[in-house]
This record gives sequence, structure tokens and C-alpha cells, in this order.
Amino acid sequence: MMQACMRSQNVHKGIETCLSKIVRHLSIGKTLQYSEDREYRAAAGEARSVKDIFKEEFSPLMKGEIHGVESKIPRETDILIIGGGLVGTAVAYFLKAYSSALGSVTVIERDYTYTRASSMLSAGGIRHQFSVPENVLMSKFTSDFLKNYKQHLSVFEQDPPEVSFHHQGYLFLAPLSSAENLENAVKMQRSLGAKTVLLSKEQLAEKYPWLNLDGIEVGSLGTSGEGWFDPWQLVHSLKAKNLANGVRYCEGEVIEFKMEDVRSADGTRKIIKGVDVDCKDGKHYGCNFSCVINCAGPWAGEIARLAHIGDGEQYGDTSNFIELPVEPRKRYVYTFHCPDGPTLDTPFVIDPSGAYFRREGLGGHYICGASPNDSEEPNIEDLNVDYDFYNEVVWPALANRVPAFNNSKLKAAWAGYYDYNLMDQNLIIGPHPYHTNFLFANGMSGHGVQHALAIGQAIFELIMYGHYKTIDLSRFSFNRFMDDELVIEDAIV
Ligand SMILES: Cc1cc2nc3c(=O)[nH]c(=O)nc-3n(C[C@H](O)[C@H](O)[C@H](O)COP(=O)(O)OP(=O)(O)OC[C@H]3O[C@@H](n4cnc5c(N)ncnc54)[C@H](O)[C@@H]3O)c2cc1C
Repeated sequence: MMQACMRSQNVHKGIETCLSKIVRHLSIGKTLQYSEDREYRAAAGEARSVKDIFKEEFSPLMKGEIHGVESKIPRETDILIIGGGLVGTAVAYFLKAYSSALGSVTVIERDYTYTRASSMLSAGGIRHQFSVPENVLMSKFTSDFLKNYKQHLSVFEQDPPEVSFHHQGYLFLAPLSSAENLENAVKMQRSLGAKTVLLSKEQLAEKYPWLNLDGIEVGSLGTSGEGWFDPWQLVHSLKAKNLANGVRYCEGEVIEFKMEDVRSADGTRKIIKGVDVDCKDGKHYGCNFSCVINCAGPWAGEIARLAHIGDGEQYGDTSNFIELPVEPRKRYVYTFHCPDGPTLDTPFVIDPSGAYFRREGLGGHYICGASPNDSEEPNIEDLNVDYDFYNEVVWPALANRVPAFNNSKLKAAWAGYYDYNLMDQNLIIGPHPYHTNFLFANGMSGHGVQHALAIGQAIFELIMYGHYKTIDLSRFSFNRFMDDELVIEDAIV
């Protein structure tokens, strides 16, 4: 990993282009040919300041016209990030924004329309209500980051687009049988600074008269830093900042890992050296790196297999026999309209049945969903929606909890993949014990949007300092599968 600290030889193309424009502008002073289809004409004798030129050059980025993706794959990069969803984008952000010492950072993404990326298909929820302390701390980190969002992500004084954070909180409802667990979780969350409060049945009835509280003993509500936001805008803003900071974004699909034999006193071992990338021009290009980070979301297991993770090789005392236990699991989100449904201050409600709903905009629109039983996991070949699941599972549970939903109409639906960790549904982060230049940032199983920024910060700390500084995520290492020390999170939705 130390190799990742090699200084970058690469100067980002965008900055280079800007600099050449500045030089041309300062020397010509009158007309600045911006690109083939755009022109900036300065009045005779008028000169723009360097700052103004940078602002204007990057304004298309900030308006959503991102032109930073390269079709060329660099032959070498210090750090390669596979996957340009929210996690890959956040990792790239921290690596570049927090230090200039880590060298070149390249993101390889196969589809910049993000049609199947789970970040874009998520419900965008963020909560501090978890049973595992690290998860609470990671969500708190995100809430704090989003509070200062503009400060972090403005590019040359231009504000990033709004992430539309709705601070409505989450409301977890619990029957008597799990009331004690909820109470303990709230105590732990509060001890970490989360503003979660416990609400008795009477308090729930008073605050949310639209709830049917049959079978409910208690609820917990996040009163600060919880709610939902727009992950697409966050990806977009991080990406604009990353491009300005010199991160290279390339388009292509990683299809193979290249290995190299290295001899040492313990014998010969294979190390991961690079990848082969299938590009749109139909050709394959190689890219070597010092360190690679798996940010492939639901496809992280596939990437790990390509990198020979779990192929049984033995090196010294370390055996490489455990696969990355991450696979795509299909989840549906349904939107419905209910004219008489609960109003503006409706939180993100989690019913004990596992069904959830939240408001979507104004005017009586909501989104909702639920996870199926293990035995009823849907086929993952496509992203088709199962409407029977809504009619038979989700809607009955929600109409029972909120009687007003009996008068509602299903409007639309979509499906996405959870990046599902089969072992304990929690994050897997940090280096592989055998292939130590291969880092994981995977397996969040439905809470990766809210943890992506904290994951980015953690990966930066691991590479920069060799250990965690802000939040200790050691328990989430891959080694836990070898040591049989799973970290079970009770609040998986
Ligand atoms: C329906 C649904 C609701 C959700 N709701 C929430 C929520 O409310 N709150 C929350 O915190 N989380 C939620 N999640 C989970 C969250 O969306 C994920 O945990 C998170 O988005 C994972 O981010 P990622 O960047 O790792 O993955 P992705 O966003 O999927 O990005 C991975 C990227 O890797 C790329 N890739 C894969 N393989 C290759 C390859 N070989 N070469 C190049 N590129 C490759 C893909 O194209 C993709 O763009 C939800 C998920 C779903 C499906």
C-alpha cells in the first residue's frame, strides 16, 4: 500500500486545458476560443482574471454538463477505483481532496448513465438508528458532511446542486417482543451523540394520529440528521469536485486482473498488478496500479473473483480460500398516491413487518418497499418489477399501519440491486489479507448511500496513514470471515 504514495506524474487534462486557455487568453487578450462549439469574446483590451477563467471553464461542470469522462484508459495509475457509483466517487473525493501525496487516482466505470447502479436506484435514506455503533458513527459522519455540503463541494466558488436533504427523521416501530432491543439501541445511539428519542405508544398516538398502533409498544425517532436526500446529486457534485481535483474518470468494463509472480524468502507469490478493460471501441486496454479499490457495489463479488480472491492459493500462513460474500439482490421501490395520507412532517417509517414508506415530494405521493424472506429472493437476471409483491406483501402491511393508505393508487415502480453481504449484511472494508493491494469497500446491503462518504474517508485514512483515524472500522475487515467474528446489524431494512 505504501506504493500508493508515489507521486503522480499525471497532470489532469482538464486543468492542463484550462491552463493553456489562460496562457492563450493572457497573451491574446481579446478573443478566447473556448471550444469548437462555444466562444467567449472579451471586449477589446478586456482581460479576464485567472479566477474568472477557471470559474467559467468549470461552470458547465456545475450545471450538470460533465465532460470529464475519458475514453482512453491510462497505462498506469497509482490508485485505481473500480466502479463510479456513490462509493467509488466518495473514495476518489477523499483520496484527492485530503492529500496531494497519494498520486494519480483513476475511476473506471462501465456505464456513466448509471442505469443499474444501486446508488441511483436507492431510496436515499439516512438514519442514525442502527444497532452496531460503527454504523451509527458512519451515518453521523455523512449528516455532518452534508451540513457543510457547499463548503466541501463547491468548485471555484460555484455552489454544487442541492442534494435536497429532507430532515424528516426515521421512525422505527416495535412490538413488545422487541421493545427492549429498541430501547437499548436508542441508548447506544444517544451515547454516540445521535439525537434519537424513544416514544411511548401514547406519545406516538399524539404525534402521529394517522398511525394504527395495534401491536406496537414503542417507537424510536431520529430528531436530527436523519431523513433522505438525492444520491444522484451527491454523485454529481462529488464527481465535479473530483474532476476539478484531478481525478481521471474513464469508461470501460474491468474484465480481467493481471497477476505477477514475486519471489521472497517465503517463496513465490502472485501479486495483483493491473486490470484489462473492455472499452466502447471494442478493444481491450491494460492499466497497471499500485493499489486497487473494489467499489463495484452489487457486482463486487464478481470483481473479487476476477482478482482471484478466494482461489485457494496459500502464501506463508495466509490462505486465500474465502470468497468475497457479496452478490446482487433485487429490491423494489413502489410509488403511490394517497390524497388523504399523512402530511409534511411524516418521517421515514419502518414497520415491524419490514415494510417501509416515506413521503416523496408533496401532494400525497409516497415511496415504499420491503425486503423479501430469504426463501423468496427474486431472480436477479433483470430489473423487472414484481407487482404481486406490492399487492400481497407491501401494501397490506402499510395499509394496516396507516389506514388512510387503503385509499391509495400505485403510480410507478422500479427495481435495483442491494450490494448484499451474505454473511452479516455489513460493510466489508480494507485490504484483503493475502492480496494486500486489493481493498474492499463493499457489502453494505441496503445502507451504502448513507455510509459512502464515511467509507471514502476511511479508505483515505487506511492508504494515507495505514490505520483508521476518524472512525475505527477494524471490525469490518475481511478477516472477520476467517476469524468467524461476524458483526450482526439488527436494523437491516
Ligand atoms: C431499492 C434500493 C433502495 C436502497 N435504499 C437505500 C437507502 O435508503 N439508504 C442507503 O443508505 N442505501 C440504500 N440502498 C443501498 C445503496 O444504494 C447501496 O448500498 C449503494 O448505492 C452502493 O453504492 P456503490 O457505489 O457501492 O454501488 P453502485 O452505485 O451500484 O456503483 C457500482 C458501480 O460499479 C460499476 N461496475 C460494476 N462492475 C464493473 C466493472 N467490471 N467495470 C467497471 N465498472 C463496474 C457499476 O456500473 C456501478 O455503476 C438501496 C439500494 C436499493 C437497490
